[in-house]
Amino acid sequence: MSNRLAVIFDKSKLWRDAGRFALPQHCALCAAACAGHLVCAACDAALPRLPTACPRCALPTPGGAVCGHCTMRPPRLAATLAAFAYAYPLDRLLHALKYRGAVAYAEFFASALAAIVTRTPDLLVALPLSASRQRERGFNQAQEIARALAAALRVPLVQGLVRRRDTAAQAALPWAQRRRNVRGAFAALPVVAGRRIAIVDDVMTTGATLAAAADAALRAGALEVEALVVARTLPPS
Ligand SMILES: [Zn+2]
Ligand SMILES: [Zn+2]
Repeated sequence: MSNRLAVIFDKSKLWRDAGRFALPQHCALCAAACAGHLVCAACDAALPRLPTACPRCALPTPGGAVCGHCTMRPPRLAATLAAFAYAYPLDRLLHALKYRGAVAYAEFFASALAAIVTRTPDLLVALPLSASRQRERGFNQAQEIARALAAALRVPLVQGLVRRRDTAAQAALPWAQRRRNVRGAFAALPVVAGRRIAIVDDVMTTGATLAAAADAALRAGALEVEALVVARTLPPS
């Protein structure tokens, strides 16, 4: 009885579910009328796009050359594509997806990613959340973006990765500790063997989490792993 009541009166979930299917009538950033689009043309044009960037890690480089770091120490990811820089006001849109789960946001991000994909992968895989985070949020924002992107690219979305253990939230750790925190955090499933896969996530910060996921996929026999992320955090400095 009390369990059923808890489900029925979980207002936050009802609110979120309502948001998932609402069609936007106004720009999500400035509230100007723009039926059928998440943001109006002016706000869209002002979103923080990435300048030319390293094809391996998506950090800005002159002319899009491979950066010094990736030249010295080639990363596990064959390529990283980011649609935006992680900055205001894009962070607000990502936050809305993460905490409200609105499907219109996932579709907006997926179409921005679809526009920059040049080589279609064999499979898409969403970066999994930790079990506790997934329970608490009820959905995985990377999965929502990946689902919309799979439809746009006509590429199968598979469950190719699992979290082997919960890790401390990366955001709570200094950059230097993040690689150690996520080492061995993922396992890949046999479906990735012999395939070129793209791992979808919302934000890439240091890249340590995606590197750990790529490492698991390559160990499981993936031919090549790339990352498709909505936004890239530019390093402090
Ligand atoms: Zn607007
Ligand atoms: Zn690089």
